[in-house]
Amino acid sequence: MQQNQSRRSVVVGAGIIGAAIAYELQKRGAQVTLVDADAPGRGASYGNMASIAVTEFMPVSRPSVWRQTPGWLLHPEGPIRVSPGYATRLIPWFVRFFWAGRPAKLRELEAQGAVLCQRSLADTEQLMAEIGLSDQLSTSGCLSLYASEAELSADRERLDMLDRHGFDYEVMDCTALHDLEPEIAPNIQKAVLLPDNRTVRDPHALVTRLVEAFVALGGAIQRAEVSGFARAECITGVRLKGGRLLKADDVILAAGAFTGRLSKLLSEPIPLETERGYHTQINAPGIGLNHSIIWPAMAFMVSSTAGGIRVGGTVEMAGLDADPDWRRSKITVKRARKALPNLQIEDVTEWMGHRPAFPDTVPVLSASAKVPGVYYATGHGHLGLTYAATTARLMGQLIAGETPDIDLQPYRVDRF
Ligand SMILES: Cc1cc2nc3c(=O)[nH]c(=O)nc-3n(C[C@H](O)[C@H](O)[C@H](O)COP(=O)(O)OP(=O)(O)OC[C@H]3O[C@@H](n4cnc5c(N)ncnc54)[C@H](O)[C@@H]3O)c2cc1C
Repeated sequence: MQQNQSRRSVVVGAGIIGAAIAYELQKRGAQVTLVDADAPGRGASYGNMASIAVTEFMPVSRPSVWRQTPGWLLHPEGPIRVSPGYATRLIPWFVRFFWAGRPAKLRELEAQGAVLCQRSLADTEQLMAEIGLSDQLSTSGCLSLYASEAELSADRERLDMLDRHGFDYEVMDCTALHDLEPEIAPNIQKAVLLPDNRTVRDPHALVTRLVEAFVALGGAIQRAEVSGFARAECITGVRLKGGRLLKADDVILAAGAFTGRLSKLLSEPIPLETERGYHTQINAPGIGLNHSIIWPAMAFMVSSTAGGIRVGGTVEMAGLDADPDWRRSKITVKRARKALPNLQIEDVTEWMGHRPAFPDTVPVLSASAKVPGVYYATGHGHLGLTYAATTARLMGQLIAGETPDIDLQPYRVDRF
């Protein structure tokens, strides 16, 4: 392998994953070009819920979710919606989804998420310190809400999982909860404090700052859509829309939910879908919060972000091309007001983003199995912000031919 100094690397996708990898590779001495069809950070990384959610690695496909799914799908305001026009295209993905959640596999997948989450806070803190954003990470954790003792018991599998992997949490009663977060509705009886989760003040500003730091190290930005590849025995470059060729020794595909379209061009199909999610940014919420909030039974999250309070969540399976259905964001706000009755819905903006999702919830952090010199970093699902710094570190090690800090076998692209 050539020394990093003389390697030309092209990273496709300037979301949080691609930006963090580009910064890491440039820091290691490669000549990196970061290519995006849009301005940096305008994809899913723009409007996520800003949470370094180290406790949320539970595989999405599991028997308790399967049991609830029919009810959720039938309810017009349920947390999951499958677009009727897109449903048949989802069948192969859902077959893999149910197969991934079989009891014999579940613990393995859980451990693969946990091992990333165990590193993610320290890696994120280090990355944010390096780019001068330490003060943009909250110090308080997340509160998981439960209307009743029975609701908490129904979510016991989450706490068991945290026990298995050594994550801290504290179960709180009604009085302790309301002392800690007075805006929570008085009828919420129970909560679990997740002290190691954090909130980034502005996820989009994090991407733009990372890109600035990358450019300051000598990295190059190219605004163009990647529409093909040049290859011989190994990859030799990426082709931009319009025909121009960008020569490369390494190409890292980090185009979020769109990475599947690129992998197809390399004859390496991957079962990547998009779980579309929504946020409502409330700039005049009329309340303040000390913690981020999730309510598992209601499937929403609330975070304090730059400029106010952000409410988000929901999973909509409707592919990459359908228009947003803004009813989804309104449903989430309606649910959030059950937890935060004083929340004012003034001066709002709504947003939809494409989470890149594999059926087994585990991202792909891998060399291509087909084309030498191509790497994949995608499928981070609900945890792309959480996993970004760790992903960048691991991909830097993998691409440099070093032994990665963790065994990357479970994250390989040809596991499906
Ligand atoms: C509502 C919602 C809430 C979320 N909350 C959280 C949270 O609290 N914590 C957390 O950790 N994660 C959260 N996530 C998930 C997280 O946002 C994603 O996992 C993450 O942003 C994915 O980053 P990415 O860089 O892979 O993709 P993206 O940010 O989507 O970036 C992909 C980039 O690739 C570019 N691109 C695509 N195709 C091409 C092409 N052919 N040529 C050139 N460029 C191309 C796009 O323009 C885009 O900029 C949430 C997601 C949503 C939708």
